Amino acid sequence: MTAAGAASVTAEVISLPDERASIRRRLLQRSARKLGEEAFARAGAYDEDGVFPDADVAGLHASGLLAANLPLEFGGAALSGLPLSEVLRAIGSGSLALGRLFEGHVNAIELVLRYGNHEQAGLVAQEARQGKLFGVWNTDGSNDLRLIQKLDRTWLEGRKILASGAGHIERPLVTATDADGRRLMVLPKLDAPDRADLSGWRAQGMRASATGAVDFTGVEIKPIEIVGREGDYERQPWFSGGAWRFAAVHLGGMERLFDLLRRHLQETNRGKDPHQAARLGRVTMAVETARLWVAQAASIAEAPLGSRAPEQAVAYVNLTRLAVEAAALDLMQLVQRSVGLQAFLRPNPIERISRDLATYLRQPGPDRALTDAAAWILAQPLGAQDLWR
Ligand SMILES: Cc1cc2nc3c(=O)[nH]c(=O)nc-3n(C[C@H](O)[C@H](O)[C@H](O)COP(=O)(O)OP(=O)(O)OC[C@H]3O[C@@H](n4cnc5c(N)ncnc54)[C@H](O)[C@@H]3O)c2cc1C
Repeated sequence: MTAAGAASVTAEVISLPDERASIRRRLLQRSARKLGEEAFARAGAYDEDGVFPDADVAGLHASGLLAANLPLEFGGAALSGLPLSEVLRAIGSGSLALGRLFEGHVNAIELVLRYGNHEQAGLVAQEARQGKLFGVWNTDGSNDLRLIQKLDRTWLEGRKILASGAGHIERPLVTATDADGRRLMVLPKLDAPDRADLSGWRAQGMRASATGAVDFTGVEIKPIEIVGREGDYERQPWFSGGAWRFAAVHLGGMERLFDLLRRHLQETNRGKDPHQAARLGRVTMAVETARLWVAQAASIAEAPLGSRAPEQAVAYVNLTRLAVEAAALDLMQLVQRSVGLQAFLRPNPIERISRDLATYLRQPGPDRALTDAAAWILAQPLGAQDLWR
């Protein structure tokens, strides 16, 4: 069943005046907490190759979260920055696979709002309010995606790989190259789920993210489905700056592992042992380190334009990615040492979440993210006390 099929009722999402928007954002955060707990309860059952978390996505729709980052005039709550990071953490804490899908959805809407015209924003807003899940599919394999134009027809040829929600997302945002070598964003309408091939996704974790290849050959493209101008997709600071959102989902997974470890230590009465206590202290430091980086990155990356140098935001978010990755790797080995073999035995959720987190931590170009940030830092005249002001 598609996300839209699972969520047949249009969510009650109404435009609210500005002064009530913050109340609406708080309600969305509360809904995300509740949905995170429901997703956590279902996550073990969804942990199968090729599975898609239909019920969780229907829950995102029913609670208004699929429309949350739309502007108020489009029926959303303009959710961004810190309140959005709270939502991403809550959902990631319930299910990292669902968090990945939701983070892609938020990214797709944001790209259309930033680079699309009013009509395109209206199109995605309407579909999001109806319960359609979006995603951003940028990764090319050997048969990369091309945009072909002949006479008055435009269509796609080729495929995308590593596409989350493959076979379920009906309107992904994809990047495609035209005959002049221009890389453009396209919003194709897919009506046949059999274009997806999930057979290659035999990953250690994130099995329920329905990540796979999608063949677009022959899909007709209307003018309204081409978004923005050449190079918009990779335009900085938003391209690298948006990485704080997946770091927030990673943090959610870390927070769940923290909760599970503490409960284990309480239930086994092992927490007062000095070795276990020391590890719990270090786990708490790892979670709090990640939380501080993510919160600061959400504020810096979404600060009003002109309030700080774009390169500074990119450098900060690049470091955030890596700080969260390091904290998560540290946390996982501490949790595994504290819990022991039980942390490797199904159906213990520590086993599943550790697999999901280890897999999801693999994001593009981590070495480059670090060295690019270091290059920016090297060129700054400011001392450490003022570097990130
Ligand atoms: C669960 C999951 C869902 C995903 N969903 C989507 C999706 O919906 N849409 C989408 O577009 N993508 C998706 N992806 C793919 C994702 O965006 C990345 O492309 C992928 O995770 C890259 O991982 P990698 O480790 O292979 O990265 P790489 O960038 O290949 O990094 C691997 C290592 O090689 C190093 N390296 C990178 N480039 C070079 C170089 N030129 N020379 C030397 N060393 C280099 C890196 O620093 C790192 O150490 C998903 C990935 C996961 C795990």
